[in-house]
Amino acid sequence: MKVFKFGGASVDSVERIRNLKRILQSYSHDKILVVVSAIGKTTNALEEVVNAFYSKEKQLALELFDAIKQKHLQIAEELSSQPIDQLTDLFTEVEWLLHDKPVREYDYYYDQVVCIGELLSTSIISNFLNVSGIHNKWVDVRDIIRTDDNFRDARIDWNYTNARVQNAIVPFFNDYNIVITQGFIGSTGENESTTLGREGSDYTAAVFANLLACRSQTIWKDVQGVLNADPKLYTKAEWIKELNYKEVIEMAYYGAQVIHPKTIKPLQNKGIPLYVRSFLQPESEGTVIHDRNVNHLPPIIVYKKNQVLIELSSKDYSFVSEGLNTEVEELFQQFKFKPNLTQIAAISMLYVVDDRQNKIEPFVFKAAEQFDVKVTKGLTLLTIRHYSENILQELIEGKVLLQQQTPETAQVLMQL
Ligand code: ASP
Ligand code: MG
Repeated sequence: MKVFKFGGASVDSVERIRNLKRILQSYSHDKILVVVSAIGKTTNALEEVVNAFYSKEKQLALELFDAIKQKHLQIAEELSSQPIDQLTDLFTEVEWLLHDKPVREYDYYYDQVVCIGELLSTSIISNFLNVSGIHNKWVDVRDIIRTDDNFRDARIDWNYTNARVQNAIVPFFNDYNIVITQGFIGSTGENESTTLGREGSDYTAAVFANLLACRSQTIWKDVQGVLNADPKLYTKAEWIKELNYKEVIEMAYYGAQVIHPKTIKPLQNKGIPLYVRSFLQPESEGTVIHDRNVNHLPPIIVYKKNQVLIELSSKDYSFVSEGLNTEVEELFQQFKFKPNLTQIAAISMLYVVDDRQNKIEPFVFKAAEQFDVKVTKGLTLLTIRHYSENILQELIEGKVLLQQQTPETAQVLMQL
């Protein structure tokens, strides 16, 4: 058995959905669980709907939702002659909610509305495949993946989910070669929809790969596989044939948007290889990520923009090492906030963080009780793994505010 994950870009037009069908046709002898994201940028569009609803702009919310609805209906219609009743039900569910007034927390409504993106895309795709001869079973993943009620970043209940996978998913494979379900979403024991964090479909696929003890997981993307840099930011970006799980975790940790960081653990735990391949060139081999040691990697380059440097110096010249750093760590925990880079000196501490105003402001406010605080915005954090002096020289630009190096990784905070 295998798991395939198709992201939003791979299903964002009628042509691309037809292309997905051709890919599945070339695996007609395999049993495949197919995890699909919302079409194109639907999740962003649904976020706008939630924002309008939550600011009590009901009319706007309904209009924004209607645009999403029309787009899906149009794709569905172009793909197949049969109307899909399930779509109507899904639309009605959201429209009812939008007619209410918000009385609960934002994150709850976010999940109830945003989850519709994946339900719509999979309904359309499953229906299209069935009418064009690819027999498949559509599954509402909310009946399978049980989570807690930490809306927008829900954690999976592995025991319950495993039981559901064994009792409800495995038997489908007696009758079907293909089971189609949604990434990114789940449900609480109270039947409230939840989401697993943006870009979470990779993770959903890995959860299934783990619980079904699959031979492999494949993520179909619009690039040739994993590259050593974002080609939009580094013109000489090159394809990497093979990577170790650890390397990918590190890359994701430093901010590379390759694969959702939670994806690796469920795969690593069962030694399941992860393939990243191009849906545009399905015949090319892509990248494999597995347990083997991989030597001779090119430098791996990660840019993180919109970084903020927070400098804290103790007002009374107390040494940082006398407990002040632990206090600041506690402060970070309290605000559910994590620095991307830390540097500790005798009486001062430097923290590089993402520019999140709603986190930085209260953090700085609290820290200012004890420290002199200086905040510098608009910075870029460059990380290079397996760096050489040459590449460092080539990529360091502007004013360097901070630089840290281990034999493996160099990090430079720059003001460009
Ligand atoms: N559709 C969701 C998002 O855009 C999940 C995913 O694509 O993985 O974040
Ligand atoms: Mg996506």
